[in-house]
Amino acid sequence: LPPTAELQQKDAAHHLHPFTDTADLNAKGARVISRAEGVYLWDTEGNKMLDGMAGLWCVNVGYGRHEIIDAATRQMQQLPYYNTFFQTSHPPVIALAEKLAQLAPDHINHVFFAGSGSEANDTVVRMVRHYWASQGKPDKKVIISRKNGYHGSTMAGASLGGMSFMHAQGGLPIPDITHIDQPHWYKEGGDMSPEEFGLARARALEEEIDRLGEDKVAAFIAEPIQGAGGVVIPPETYWPEIQRICDEREILLIADEVICGFGRTGQWFGSQTYNIKPDLMPIAKGLSSGYLPIGGVLVSDRVAEGFIADGGEFAHGYTYSGHPVACAAALTNLEILEQENIVSDVASRAAPYLAEKWGQLGDHPLIGQARSKGLVGAIELTPDKAARAPFAVEAGTAGLICREHCFATGLVMRHVGDTMIISPPLVISNEEIDELVEKAGRCLDLTLADLKAQGLYK
Ligand code: PMP
Repeated sequence: LPPTAELQQKDAAHHLHPFTDTADLNAKGARVISRAEGVYLWDTEGNKMLDGMAGLWCVNVGYGRHEIIDAATRQMQQLPYYNTFFQTSHPPVIALAEKLAQLAPDHINHVFFAGSGSEANDTVVRMVRHYWASQGKPDKKVIISRKNGYHGSTMAGASLGGMSFMHAQGGLPIPDITHIDQPHWYKEGGDMSPEEFGLARARALEEEIDRLGEDKVAAFIAEPIQGAGGVVIPPETYWPEIQRICDEREILLIADEVICGFGRTGQWFGSQTYNIKPDLMPIAKGLSSGYLPIGGVLVSDRVAEGFIADGGEFAHGYTYSGHPVACAAALTNLEILEQENIVSDVASRAAPYLAEKWGQLGDHPLIGQARSKGLVGAIELTPDKAARAPFAVEAGTAGLICREHCFATGLVMRHVGDTMIISPPLVISNEEIDELVEKAGRCLDLTLADLKAQGLYK
């Protein structure tokens, strides 16, 4: 067997993959990625691909950053592991907490560390309940989330998430979590203007609070821009109305910044892009640019002081809360973002350039809408632009065809149903954006030809 085929065979035999169709895996084998530099990946067969997804929305500073590798190596030599339980701490966790307090909005000055975004969202559920109990309101327990949102894969994370196909496996959601509709104008806006639709979908929160009773509702959680759900960019009217409702109805606002945090939208946090003031912000991914696993929850002074005033102990923590090597890597990653002005460069250069080029894909006969905000974007495949119609076959059929053309063309795009999404490293140059959009356009032509041949596009 050639080396790649042998690797694929072993992989399929022993490795249980997350979110992967086993029949496909057995038939085609995994794409084995073995090397990366800048915004490019190479597989074991030597194919070079532009990574339009920054790994999995992670690698904000790009691949091959020796500063991060060196910092992690030094930390591993000095103190590879120690815990942060029982009144112990260590220099890297202290430095990272201070740096995050400095970067976060003014009202946020505390952080609780976890190992991933899913763990961070589990922590959020515990924290919200503990906070309201500390305020003498133990009945405020329900967290309202959104359909099609993604908040992780643990029991609490997948329950907070609104992916019905995930709920179907394993009897989710767990109690005291409910879901309202998402602000997805392209798919669900009908004849409303985006502005009207944004207000209507925000007011669904108020209706849900009325249904459940304000004394039962603890918090609302949402991603500033819904990522895994297909890059759902809310109408501008949405977030201000959500903020008003949270303020007036005494519920905590949780902005899941796992994707939007650390520059993705052209600000340090997505919530700043939408001018909202969350009480809690789960973070992960771009915190270390994926170089090592780390997550956490940024906590507002109001919530943190609830805990501190209460005294006692928050009976919660992970062996890897504040892992020293992950903290050292994350700290260096944040220093790179700062020193190279990467976040402001996204706002002033990369995002407007991407918006212009990516937006032109909207003219393609197969595209119903091309949208982007910061360096995250989506295009909607449709057989009928004017009607924003779905295909007459199972959702995802066209998306999968397009994704396969992308791989073959040397571009990693992900498909969510028939929505193609991108989230490239923040350091992508204008020339690389040109390459991304040019390759995406070529793949759309190839996809259109396939769909016509199959009678799915007339
Ligand atoms: N929240 C959001 C918004 C995410 O996109 C993800 C991961 N895609 C998570 C939470 C879960 O993070 P992790 O996979 O690190 O557990």
